[in-house]
Amino acid sequence: MYASVFNPSNKRITIAVDGYSSCGKSTLAKALAKKLNYIFVDSGAMYRAVTLYFIENNIPISTLQSESDNGKLKGYLDNIKISFEKNQTNNSYEVCLNGRNVEKEIRLMNVSENVSLVSTIKSIRQKLVQLQQDLGKNKGVVMDGRDIGTVVFPNAELKLFMTADINERANRRFNELTHKGIKTTLEEVKENINQRDYDDTHRIESPLVQATDAILIDNTFYNEEQSLQVAMDKFLEVIKK
Ligand code: C5P
Repeated sequence: MYASVFNPSNKRITIAVDGYSSCGKSTLAKALAKKLNYIFVDSGAMYRAVTLYFIENNIPISTLQSESDNGKLKGYLDNIKISFEKNQTNNSYEVCLNGRNVEKEIRLMNVSENVSLVSTIKSIRQKLVQLQQDLGKNKGVVMDGRDIGTVVFPNAELKLFMTADINERANRRFNELTHKGIKTTLEEVKENINQRDYDDTHRIESPLVQATDAILIDNTFYNEEQSLQVAMDKFLEVIKK
């Protein structure tokens, strides 16, 4: 549909895709990046990789806030290196924890159940926001997350904020996990999505909130191609200005 993008100025912009859990943010951001030949960054994967580090090293997540207050957390964070590597089969970037590709492990339920608590901690957010800003410093980036349009790139030229009906989101995530061979139930997935939405919108540090200049996309009744079309229309409006 958008085989070649009308982009007279060849202007490369920053695109922020924020929103609730399991709304297809990453799917849309990845498709947009592919269409525009931009970099795609899944910031949620970074919070998930940090969470995986604590789980694998038997560091109780419940103690992180006090470890932050007594300075011990800084030592842990110095041992965590997050990077991305290109999957040559599908051309997407996958997250690495200290050089190890952890794309599959970070989607497991034990990570999903702990990541929102990890992401409340200020020093963890500061480390990851810095990394995200570095990745996007040359523009030509589509980044998805919760605070991309509000904190990471408040001057992003295009900000999208996504939502969808909770049952539709739970079904999509359940099918995706089942397809990947991850064992779970629809109820468990729905409960996790509701809990993360609650935690993400109620935390003190960079809560999930729609930026005042973000465009709301409710994709309950859209397929992937339709969501992409809406986003591309908004992109073209911005780029023609
Ligand atoms: O995007 P995803 O659902 O994988 O994100 C996992 C969790 O990481 C979110 O529920 C949220 O707690 C946290 N997150 C965040 N800020 C971001 C991206 C993700 O706090 N920019």
